[in-house]
Amino acid sequence: MIVDFNKTNGLVPVIIQDDRTLQVLMLGYMNEEAFEKTKTENIVTFFSRSKNRLWTKGEESGNFLTVKNISIDCDQDTILIRVIPKNIVCHTGSFSCFGEKETKGFLYELEEKVGQRIDDKITESYTYSLYQRGINKVAQKVGEEAVELVIEAKDDNADLFKNEAADLLYHFLILLKAKNFSLDEIEAILLDRNK
Ligand code: AMP
Ligand code: ZN
Ligand code: ZN
Ligand code: ZN
Repeated sequence: MIVDFNKTNGLVPVIIQDDRTLQVLMLGYMNEEAFEKTKTENIVTFFSRSKNRLWTKGEESGNFLTVKNISIDCDQDTILIRVIPKNIVCHTGSFSCFGEKETKGFLYELEEKVGQRIDDKITESYTYSLYQRGINKVAQKVGEEAVELVIEAKDDNADLFKNEAADLLYHFLILLKAKNFSLDEIEAILLDRNK
């Protein structure tokens, strides 16, 4: 892995990307020493232009960036590092330097919305009224949607199949909420199995 540090006066821009969600977290600079230290320790160390020294991200806050993958761009003058961040990345309190929130995709947004409907007791909401009927009822509904999906699987109507799959996923989120579990916890199990 060759980086051309001479081309850019010894400092090369480094894009830091979340290994799981691919969200861009921050941008920093490395000199050769910072790059070597990062590879050796598996924790991101930049060269800070304002501090004018090596700066291990997290050295004060404890919010270290653990390296998962390093790649170099087409002409060897930019580094892309995929990391697992500890807590937040930006010193302003934002999750990323380019956005306040952790972006985890639409399913997570939907999970949040389902949670809000229930927490805010929105009586006109289908989600809340199902939730109110109790865990057994919610679980039963998940079972029904699963059966509907099984039935559609036997057919070859793509539209019906995809809609039942969506129904199942939606009710699955309601059941998770009703059981006080989060999608995160389920994802963690799948990630672990995928190791
Ligand atoms: P940390 O490396 O997280 O312990 O933070 C130490 C100091 O580095 C902070 O007080 C900021 O001045 C600076 N800093 C931390 N995180 C960032 C960031 N994402 N972008 C720019 N500066 C940062
Ligand atoms: Zn380049
Ligand atoms: Zn920042
Ligand atoms: Zn259905």
